Amino acid sequence: MVAASLPISISAAGEATKPRIASGKGLKLSFKPYELKLRHAFNLAKYQRTTTPDVLVQIEYDGIVGYGEASMPPYLGESVESVTKFLANLDLEQFNDPFRLEEILEYVDSTAENNRAAKASVDIALHDLLGKIMGQPWYKIWGLRPEKAPDTSFTIGIDTAEVVRKKVDEAAPYNIIKVKMGLDNDKELIEIIRSKTDRPICVDVNQGWSDKHHALEMIKWLADKNVIFVEQPMPKEMIAETAWLRERSPLPLVADEFLQRLPDVKRAAEAYDAINIKLMKSTGMHEAYQMAVLARALGMKVMVGCMTETSCAVTAAAHLSPLCDWADLDGNLLIANDCFDGIKIVNGKITIPDRPGISVVPL
Ligand code: MG
Repeated sequence: MVAASLPISISAAGEATKPRIASGKGLKLSFKPYELKLRHAFNLAKYQRTTTPDVLVQIEYDGIVGYGEASMPPYLGESVESVTKFLANLDLEQFNDPFRLEEILEYVDSTAENNRAAKASVDIALHDLLGKIMGQPWYKIWGLRPEKAPDTSFTIGIDTAEVVRKKVDEAAPYNIIKVKMGLDNDKELIEIIRSKTDRPICVDVNQGWSDKHHALEMIKWLADKNVIFVEQPMPKEMIAETAWLRERSPLPLVADEFLQRLPDVKRAAEAYDAINIKLMKSTGMHEAYQMAVLARALGMKVMVGCMTETSCAVTAAAHLSPLCDWADLDGNLLIANDCFDGIKIVNGKITIPDRPGISVVPL
């Protein structure tokens, strides 16, 4: 062996010139609750709300700070209490090399079974930190072309005719409109929008149609209205019915509530044409990237979405968007108290600022 014949003095010199990676100190995690105030009450097929609980997270290492965030829409089962309890239990000080991403995230994942948003907040802050240490934004580290980022859609919730008309005006800078459906006035909602604009529409039913024949009739009607796809048309448990629907549907069906993490992607392929990846479901950027790659390998289309959250998590998700067919990254625009500067929408397209990490700065 060559190494065995090396003189001892080289080894000593090697020791002396070792790059200074570890400062001897571990990663420092801090966090604080932050209530997001919504611009409009958010009406979905199953409930309504005016605020979203959120927790802001920082990981500091060697004087560099990475930012992350957990957003907790109530239906996901996480709360400020569950997230802060999860984060308080973590011991990140034990890690003194932030580049051991796999090892750190495996540890974080192993400390509790669910808590996906809490896990995402750590993952996002760690990615921000690593990108800043490397001096590069994540789309570059992943080797993606930012010009390939798709148009993002602007969401219009279920509401009165008057509010819907107002929201169509608000959606003017966007090339695609996303409509929440799943109540009795579904067709009326589309007709109101079509009376004002012929821009393409994406439809999100949020599991609102439980009769497959009604779902098929609705989708056929929507196909004539310049609709691009239908997201989560039926309850997530109705897999056989959704597969039946997909065989007959003229529009692609996108899985959202049906799937959370990487192992769910293969199951989704049985009944859906595409998946909607969100960082708060996937436990962050690391697994979200893997999900996008796997879905593509399975011949599925990929969409990246978000919750109502600040520009922190929305911009983190935007780094993945050049790998996606569709993007629904308007969660930051739905809140009145955004505390980060991040992505901008220019002519309907996602534009990531030229900054390292996840490309955000606190306001
Ligand atoms: Mg959805």
